Amino acid sequence: MNDLTIKTNVRRILAENGLYPKKNLGQNFLTDAHVLSKIVAAADITRDDLIIEVGPGLGVLTTEMAKHAAKVVAIEIDTNLAAILQANAAPNVQIINQDVLKTDIGDIIAQSGFFRAKMVANLPYYITTPIIFNILETGLPVDTLVVMVQKEVADRMLAAPSTKAYGLLTLSVAYYGRASLVANVPPNSFHPRPDVHSAVVKIDVNPRQDVDHPIFAAITKAAFGNRRKTLQNCLAASEQLGITKEKAAQLLAAARLPENIRGEALSFEDFVRLAGQLQDARSTTG
Ligand code: SAM
Repeated sequence: MNDLTIKTNVRRILAENGLYPKKNLGQNFLTDAHVLSKIVAAADITRDDLIIEVGPGLGVLTTEMAKHAAKVVAIEIDTNLAAILQANAAPNVQIINQDVLKTDIGDIIAQSGFFRAKMVANLPYYITTPIIFNILETGLPVDTLVVMVQKEVADRMLAAPSTKAYGLLTLSVAYYGRASLVANVPPNSFHPRPDVHSAVVKIDVNPRQDVDHPIFAAITKAAFGNRRKTLQNCLAASEQLGITKEKAAQLLAAARLPENIRGEALSFEDFVRLAGQLQDARSTTG
């Protein structure tokens, strides 16, 4: 069996098959055994688990996960890579040669006879956010995501209030679950080396029940509409919210927030409280 954490093996397999890593498909193969074991440990895979993997590539992660999981379903857009993987796959690995953005993941879970799944992937960076939010927003029964993303995206997911990285991505992820850092990963951990640093993030999915997502999303979008304006002015300027400055002031007061505060200074819980106030106000006025 080829050890895919050794770069010369990855180069050789690609060369033997007449392939080159495709930059447009984000093909940077993980070649770091230490990072590989951190990803698998963070996913806490048991014999009861169905794992959905996006972009298995040559299968470095797929093979390792198949040793611990009930089943791994790996969705790979590149027909050549899917064929190589198919030829070497363990019996509990199913390869689907398809674009993940056109794949019905709920259907895969149901067809596999499972009620829920975990998503574990070294993601193609050009579609990181659509992949993650397709899972989170559609309420699929995926309870854990362990994903390799660009370091800059991980920083935004995990940012604290009043920092440059804090914003819509931080709050959107926080609405759906708890994100934590698993590992920082340097370019040298891949073949070929990507231009950016990477990080592995774990999201324990647990969507907020006390405030509706459209209201939460409208408030946070308005709050970050103009970082130089106060939150009150941002809320009043939002066409989507359609509220006056007086109404915005009332909402801030009801949520126990200072009237001159800026959106970036609010914690996630502050935003939930503020959105809850708007939701209550709308339900009482009909
Ligand atoms: N998992 C492998 C590893 O860690 O070495 C490869 C990871 S590489 C960063 C991303 C993989 O996603 C590539 O194999 C690429 O072909 C695949 N990919 C890119 N776009 C895709 C899409 N829309 N749907 C499914 N797979 C995709």
